[in-house]
Amino acid sequence: MSRVLVLNCGSSSVKFALIETSSADSVASGLVENLGADAHLKANGPKGKVNEKISGKDHGEALESVVSFLQNQGVLEQGLVAVGHRVVHGGERFSGSVLITPQVLDAVRACNDLAPLHNPANLKGIEVASRVFPEVPQVAVFDTAFHQTIPAHAFLYPLPQSLYRERGIRRYGFHGTSHRFVSAKAAEMLGKPVADLCLITAHLGNGCSACAVLQGKSVDTTMGLTPMEGIPMGTRSGTIDPGIFRYLHDSLGWDFKRIDQLLNKESGLLGLSGLSNDMRTLAEARAQGHEGATLAIDVFCYRLAKEIAALAIALPRIDALVFTGGIGENSFLVRELTLAHLAVFGFQLDISRNGAHGRESKGIITRAETPTAMVVPTNEELLIALDSEQII
Ligand code: ADP
Repeated sequence: MSRVLVLNCGSSSVKFALIETSSADSVASGLVENLGADAHLKANGPKGKVNEKISGKDHGEALESVVSFLQNQGVLEQGLVAVGHRVVHGGERFSGSVLITPQVLDAVRACNDLAPLHNPANLKGIEVASRVFPEVPQVAVFDTAFHQTIPAHAFLYPLPQSLYRERGIRRYGFHGTSHRFVSAKAAEMLGKPVADLCLITAHLGNGCSACAVLQGKSVDTTMGLTPMEGIPMGTRSGTIDPGIFRYLHDSLGWDFKRIDQLLNKESGLLGLSGLSNDMRTLAEARAQGHEGATLAIDVFCYRLAKEIAALAIALPRIDALVFTGGIGENSFLVRELTLAHLAVFGFQLDISRNGAHGRESKGIITRAETPTAMVVPTNEELLIALDSEQII
């Protein structure tokens, strides 16, 4: 038996999953949310669920409550071989997962400027886990690592090159673990080696990004220096005209902080609909004729299709378009509307396969004789666990 504790520490949350790597099963999982305010532990294990208020002042207390939950569930003593940490930004320093050493920690710290909300929280998680499990190796798995194969003509912004050389301003891309996992899984489901395939993967959750995957390697992606570029998201705008910044500043007197708040927290599906950032809520409201929800979904699907079409130029052909993430796996409406905009590639939706989320057709949701679009559930925790096990 070998188990890996996967940790994803955000600024105010700690998500965890204890994965049994031999069977790929999640033995226990959950999260601590609202750290520092009204912290709650919501978790699930073999002995049942808990949903309780905890004294979660900081990541240390959160992790201690996770550990005592796992101990109470009786799942921690057996074969914990590693702790795998999701780390958001590895800059250009990491093109794969690594065993955490003091040198690795320094290198992750050096990327803090590139992900000021995420990397410090990830580092905190590593520090606390190393203290709680001093004998267990810690592994870092980076969101950016999979995209380090993107060529310079795709990762450079058309800005003065000194900004790249001196400040590291370039496109990095995120969701790499998910794009890597679903591209390998799609190959398995199609019964072909990933090395023979040209794929476009669309990870559509609260954050959304798509990736062109050539023979198992990322060759372009929609997110950039930060996770704000590309497809519209729950509350982020995705790509917009940079002239809007100046216009907001000049016409409304907004400063940088206000504009950042607008583009990160008040835009995307929430901003367009005036209702919600949640695709389920929007799909229901659209069915009731809600104008904002209808428009939000229309803009989302059109822009998503446009980003997918743009990624296609990074590939010699498209063998399959893969939908994943909460929206990609569950919203037949988003898949239908998006594929309708991609008719130029010849995709023809099979309505009944799409309605069943491809579950009875090896993930495939298109008609047999046309290019393949498919649904592949992502499992980032499993990939982090498998990487961690392999490294140690
Ligand atoms: P995260 O990026 O936080 O991991 P998820 O991958 O869970 O997020 O995706 C969250 C999104 O998935 C939300 O917009 C949610 O509404 C959407 N979603 C989940 N289930 C469904 C569903 N059955 N139909 C439509 N959208 C769904």
